[in-house]
Amino acid sequence: MKTGFLTQWQTSYSIKEGYKWLQGESRNVPWSKWVWNRYNIPKHSVIAWMATLGKLITKAHLFGIGVVTEKMCLMCGLQEESIEHCFFQRKYSLQCYVKICRRLKLSATPMDHINSSWKKWSRKYACKRKKSTCLVVLAALVYQIWCARNCAYWEKRIPRPEVLVDNVMHSVCNRVRQLINSKWSQGEKDWLEELARIQ
Ligand SMILES: [Zn+2]
Repeated sequence: MKTGFLTQWQTSYSIKEGYKWLQGESRNVPWSKWVWNRYNIPKHSVIAWMATLGKLITKAHLFGIGVVTEKMCLMCGLQEESIEHCFFQRKYSLQCYVKICRRLKLSATPMDHINSSWKKWSRKYACKRKKSTCLVVLAALVYQIWCARNCAYWEKRIPRPEVLVDNVMHSVCNRVRQLINSKWSQGEKDWLEELARIQ
């Protein structure tokens, strides 16, 4: 039993307070709003979380620990495969990003780092539900790009950017439709359906 349990609750006890105490002190990280956005598809959150922490196993990482003998990108072969290169510098990823921005009717401003890019996206919308949906798209994009990279590694093929973007939008719209409740306005529902239709 955690130290302090017996002395902490001599007068009154509530499950909520007990739970908070058991969790202990934790550091607030700004990216949690994006990574653990409740609209996210859970497996996308896990990959987004690992990418944010720099824990995805790229070739640059494997090279650093002596597992592989070269660290160049699997998809373009032009630069070392770091997380930033994977998601924001590689031509393929940029093509996907530009297409996604077009679907969301956002201007494709340069994105340089995964830890700051989500902020730029979330500022684009005033509406809370549209903002959350937009962040689901970002997490899905990171997930699908990572899948495409793994496909290049294991199957020696890469989906066309159009196919990847279709997968992103299809998975996001299906996910968010499940979360619609009575608080959603008709305008928000129409916006989501339009997002699903745009090619
Ligand atoms: Zn590359």
